[in-house]
Amino acid sequence: MKIFYFKKRYIFMLSIILLLGITISVTLVINTNKKDNNLHSLDNIIPQEECECNDSTKMKENDEFLKEQYKNKKLVALTFDDGPSEYTSTLIDELKKRNVVATFFVLGKEVEKKPEALKFAFDTGNEIGIHSYEHKLFTKLSEEEILLQVSKAKDIISNITEKKPNLIRVPYGSINKKIKKVLSDHELTSVLWNVDSLDWKLRNTQKIYDYVMKKFKGNDIILMHDSFKTSIEAATLIIDTLQNKCYTFVTVSEFLRIKNEMKS
Ligand SMILES: [Zn+2]
Repeated sequence: MKIFYFKKRYIFMLSIILLLGITISVTLVINTNKKDNNLHSLDNIIPQEECECNDSTKMKENDEFLKEQYKNKKLVALTFDDGPSEYTSTLIDELKKRNVVATFFVLGKEVEKKPEALKFAFDTGNEIGIHSYEHKLFTKLSEEEILLQVSKAKDIISNITEKKPNLIRVPYGSINKKIKKVLSDHELTSVLWNVDSLDWKLRNTQKIYDYVMKKFKGNDIILMHDSFKTSIEAATLIIDTLQNKCYTFVTVSEFLRIKNEMKS
């Protein structure tokens, strides 16, 4: 009886050791797999390409290069609304230093105050689009009033640049079919955005930068405003980060042209 009891206890102890062994082995296998998965997901996050892309900014004129960049989701169009402002020239200096161009959707009323800033933006290869004369909500305006807002701004811009702008971003991005028709009847292309920086609300360089980088997916039109110092600082950081990741900055017209050619 005693021997039997001893045997029973012996078998019980062996089973516990065996069970522990199996549990430890299974945990080890699971952890190793997890580690592997983590490594794979890191592979996806960290770009594997060598970043020898400083020359890419010099290839903006090369269509084949731009199409390749589009295919790889490596194009970006930075846009600035509501200017020009006291910060616009500083922004243009920063763009120039980095061999980057952007698109400025300007207000006629602000251009009247700072014509030299608009001239500087245009002369340095940036694109100029219309944002209306004084930022009224188009959906509340009659067709005549919309046309007045547009044509006034258009004339002010073309007097300085000697080039008629053909892009427009309506104030607040508030657009409907009726407005679209009025604009296209006057050979204007309406442009919105994919990434809204919310810079007018955040007013903090780091927060604007973080927010844009979170929303950015590549081949995006980014909306910012050159009327805030924090926006200019954030834009500089965004450009530096994206250039390091081999993105190419183009004007909205270039972006739309490449996009359309890739579709057809
Ligand atoms: Zn605006």
